[in-house]
Amino acid sequence: MIPKLKRGVHIDFHTMPGIYDFGREFDAADFARTLSDANVTLINMFAQCNLGFSYYPTKVGVPYPTMKGDMIGSVLEECHKKDIRVVAYINIGLNHEAARSHAQWCRVDAEGRIIRGDRTANFFRTMCYNTGYGDYLLELVTEIAALNPDGLFCDCMVLEPCWCNKCTEDMLERGIDINDRAAVTAFSREVMLDISRRIRAVIPRDKLFYLNGMQYDEVDDMETHNEVECLPSGGWGYDYFVPRASYARNLHKDTLYMTGRFQASWGDFGGFKSKASIENDIYDALCQGVQYSVGDHMHPARGLEKDIYRIIGEIYGETMRYERWTDDAVYKADIGVVINRGTYGSEQPGAARMLSELKYSFEIINEDMPLDKFRLIILPDETVVNDRLLPKLTAYMESGGKLLSTGFGGLLPGRKAFAPGIYDFIEYHGADTANSSYYRTKEILCEADMDYDMYNQGILMKTDGKLSVASYVGAYFNRHWDGLHGYYYTPPEGENGYTAAALSGNTAHVCFKLFTAYNRTASVFHKKLAAHLIEQLLPDPLIRAPQMPSTSRVTLTGTDDYRLLHVKTTFPEPRGPFDVVEEHVTLPAGRRVSVRGDYTSVCLLPELIPVLFETKEGRCEITLPEITGYAMFLLQ
Ligand SMILES: [Zn+2]
Repeated sequence: MIPKLKRGVHIDFHTMPGIYDFGREFDAADFARTLSDANVTLINMFAQCNLGFSYYPTKVGVPYPTMKGDMIGSVLEECHKKDIRVVAYINIGLNHEAARSHAQWCRVDAEGRIIRGDRTANFFRTMCYNTGYGDYLLELVTEIAALNPDGLFCDCMVLEPCWCNKCTEDMLERGIDINDRAAVTAFSREVMLDISRRIRAVIPRDKLFYLNGMQYDEVDDMETHNEVECLPSGGWGYDYFVPRASYARNLHKDTLYMTGRFQASWGDFGGFKSKASIENDIYDALCQGVQYSVGDHMHPARGLEKDIYRIIGEIYGETMRYERWTDDAVYKADIGVVINRGTYGSEQPGAARMLSELKYSFEIINEDMPLDKFRLIILPDETVVNDRLLPKLTAYMESGGKLLSTGFGGLLPGRKAFAPGIYDFIEYHGADTANSSYYRTKEILCEADMDYDMYNQGILMKTDGKLSVASYVGAYFNRHWDGLHGYYYTPPEGENGYTAAALSGNTAHVCFKLFTAYNRTASVFHKKLAAHLIEQLLPDPLIRAPQMPSTSRVTLTGTDDYRLLHVKTTFPEPRGPFDVVEEHVTLPAGRRVSVRGDYTSVCLLPELIPVLFETKEGRCEITLPEITGYAMFLLQ
């Protein structure tokens, strides 16, 4: 039985050769005490780093040159005394020591190179598991498993096509066209799945196991949980975590938000992004009903930076007061956003951001998951109705379900026709080849009554005019070069008989890729159009919060006995290349939020302070107190 994962720290520890005083101040008992004082219950701790150095006396691998003793062994012993679980980290994708001693174990790119890109970084050469490296890795993993850690975290499992001698021989033998990059990538994916299964077989089933970098839904049967790695202020951005967590929590019982303390990215020894910024990420985790861990990098000579753990301790000291209620609570949603397994396109962060701003509660699910618990299904932009989805969707619609689709969403694979029986009110006229076009809504939804740009075309369609919510407005020209002019200026010409958005009964479709466009342009008019359609399909949503700013987040989690309303007011500001949270945002008292359902008490947690509310037409209307950063309310 794997216990609940909570209050984690991911301790990065990649050490270049040349740290002459490695481990100078490191003391395992002090290390464990620092973590324990910081209320940490779970760490990912290095057995072997991406340089390929092991941090225990290894017979298989390469020990760190100036290491004395057994670092991870002593950490396991001391942390277990403090009830801290220690998951052993091994880098699977990077191993620069093995690459140096066995060049034939490296991946080879299409140009025949082993080394590519920035050689002062860490990803300039990666390993091929189809070589002797695969067997070497298995020996390393077996040796690490014998240390009896609480689990294994396998890092940097990044998919890249490989043309090494072994892969090329194998592909030629199987008749794979080695000049077809997609086919080579598919072969490399099989190699990665194979090594994943071989490693999984070594790790006992009662231990934690995670393959970082693999697609969430291709190894979900192997992993014990999910860690959404996302340093939002740096490379990942603040739109990455929510859609990924929303999907991950449907694949695993436990999901962790792995954020970090860094200002820039991993390896940023001198970067600390502020306490409020780490809290912001943990509030996002609470809003999404998932657990959290903070990424750090330990100094090779000095050990843990005490002040970082003082701050983590303060944060975890506060958030642990909610655990009495959050431990068993799960996210509650009205809307199922269905994606096809193995896809992650920009329509997913686009939909997640838009629905979050509108305070609609949603899960991202795939075609293999049940639809019937949702009041509305969204098929965003690229989701095709394949053989697995079609019978489910048909049954869902026959039982009165509601459906919104956009762009190519709702089409059969191959995109030649809509899913039969659902879209009979739409004439499908094929993919839209325009690169400039507009739409005009029947009702005025935005501040200006004008033609709005679609930005991301999808399909052409026609409907009975009475069912049209928005008409298609063509441009005078497509953007193009005619030999004399570059047609950059492409104004709207007029309505051309096509429909941009239509609603009939329980089904609505928007012809363009509304969520992709929202992700790329953040156009408020796209959001207004979506909201207009959703209001008609979902007139009594779980949460209604029109007085709340679009920058705030309001979500609901809960158990059979109670609900938790999460209200988050802090949000990042772009500052140069970074999105920064320096301090929390205060929302004045008096804003109203309503939650569907009858409740007899509403309290502010964790102090259980009663909050003003009234019950009206099956909804609980709560008057919020002043909120700085985040608040959690108990509804019973
Ligand atoms: Zn290879």
